[in-house]
Amino acid sequence: MKILKFGGTSVGTAPALLRAAAIIDEELGRGGLVVVSALGGTTDTLLAAAAAAGRGDAATAAAGQGVLARRHWEVAGALGLEPAMRPLWEPLFRSLADLLKGMELLAEVSPRSLDAALAVGETLSAQLLAALLRLRGRQAEFHDVLEVMRTDDRHGRARPDRAALREACRPWRDGLAGGALWVTQGFLGQTHGGAVTTLGRGGSDTSATLLGEALGASEVQIWTDVDGVLSADPSLVPEARPIPVMSLREAAALSAFGAKVLHADSLLPVHRAGFRLVVGNTRRPSGGRTEIRAESPGRAPGEVTSVAYKEGVSCLRLPSAQEPDLFERLFQAANRLQEAGATCYGMLASPDGGLLVVRPETPAAQAVLAELEASGLPVETGWALVALVGEGLRGIPGRTLGLLAPLDGEPIAAILAGDTGVSLAFLIPEDRLAELVPKLHLHCIQKVATP
Ligand code: ADP
Ligand code: ASP
Ligand code: MG
Repeated sequence: MKILKFGGTSVGTAPALLRAAAIIDEELGRGGLVVVSALGGTTDTLLAAAAAAGRGDAATAAAGQGVLARRHWEVAGALGLEPAMRPLWEPLFRSLADLLKGMELLAEVSPRSLDAALAVGETLSAQLLAALLRLRGRQAEFHDVLEVMRTDDRHGRARPDRAALREACRPWRDGLAGGALWVTQGFLGQTHGGAVTTLGRGGSDTSATLLGEALGASEVQIWTDVDGVLSADPSLVPEARPIPVMSLREAAALSAFGAKVLHADSLLPVHRAGFRLVVGNTRRPSGGRTEIRAESPGRAPGEVTSVAYKEGVSCLRLPSAQEPDLFERLFQAANRLQEAGATCYGMLASPDGGLLVVRPETPAAQAVLAELEASGLPVETGWALVALVGEGLRGIPGRTLGLLAPLDGEPIAAILAGDTGVSLAFLIPEDRLAELVPKLHLHCIQKVATP
């Protein structure tokens, strides 16, 4: 059984949806599961509308809803699906309007109500793609992922309850084993109490791999708008090139350190379940793609495969001289932040002081960071984390430091090199990213391959 996941970039327009449908026919001729994100940009529009509603700006919230509805009806119209979508979509748009009205009346956007509003985006697109497949003669059915994706209640970055997911997937396994073609939403989950949750921005990749694990899939394909995983973010490095084969460890490090093409939590299920993971381009289905394998494809010592980065990183610094409980304070801060949905990228503690590198991903994590700062912990914002990734870096952290030569004279903060890891990460000021990432790519990847 195969699972195909289509990101927002691949279902944003009528032509893109038709390309996705053709790939589904090609890859899932005998059935399987399709996981879909919201039409590109929808989640951002929903977030903006909710924020406006929460500050009582009814006009902006209504305008956001209008933009969203018009766009969806336009796409459905272009596909000849407007009448088919009316009974399916109208209740969704009504429930979105109710949720935004509630936010406006309470002058508050609770994490729970925000997740419920965001869920409308993925539900609209999954129903649309199922209807398109039916129009093309396939017996496709929409199945609501909320039936199976059980999570905890950390809204905005919920964690899956894998045992409950596996159990709830029983009827899905049976249905799909019989050759059915089903379409479901990425990004969404539901608590045991019935509240809708989301898995974090870009979380549809993780939905696909979690479902792959729970359903015993043999392969998960992530369909996006680039030729698989590239050696760097193409928007910063136009020379970035596709990586045909990479190890699971490389992919996990690359996504954890920020490469948007795969969600940071999406590789763990692959590691546990061992299915094939492929990343392909909906615009060029038979062009470049990346296959992610458990074993290393064999890299030369010191070989760097890719550069990743993440903006919006903060540093908590603790000078040791004034801090007798340095380790404990750092651990406590890291725990509280992670519980609230922050990503902790690294923690250093030595007799010379301590440092915690963190990115507050949710409003709750931002609030905890503000509290920690108010309690006297120095918090610095405006950092970006950059990581060089490659199996060639394993076990030789000393040698890898030479890779940082292009950064001579730059104000680098903490260098994080795992002893057995496949990455070398460090902090640079956010405003230096656009210059330094291409420079690192040139020095560590391009020049090495084409001397
Ligand atoms: P989707 O909507 O398909 O999930 P995303 O925008 O989440 O797409 O991820 C794909 C985008 O990730 C690409 O368009 C590219 O701009 C960006 N990206 C960043 N780093 C990389 C990388 N190393 N390899 C490929 N794409 C990358
Ligand atoms: N639609 C969600 C987002 O924009 C999830 C995803 O695209 O994976 O973050
Ligand atoms: Mg994505």
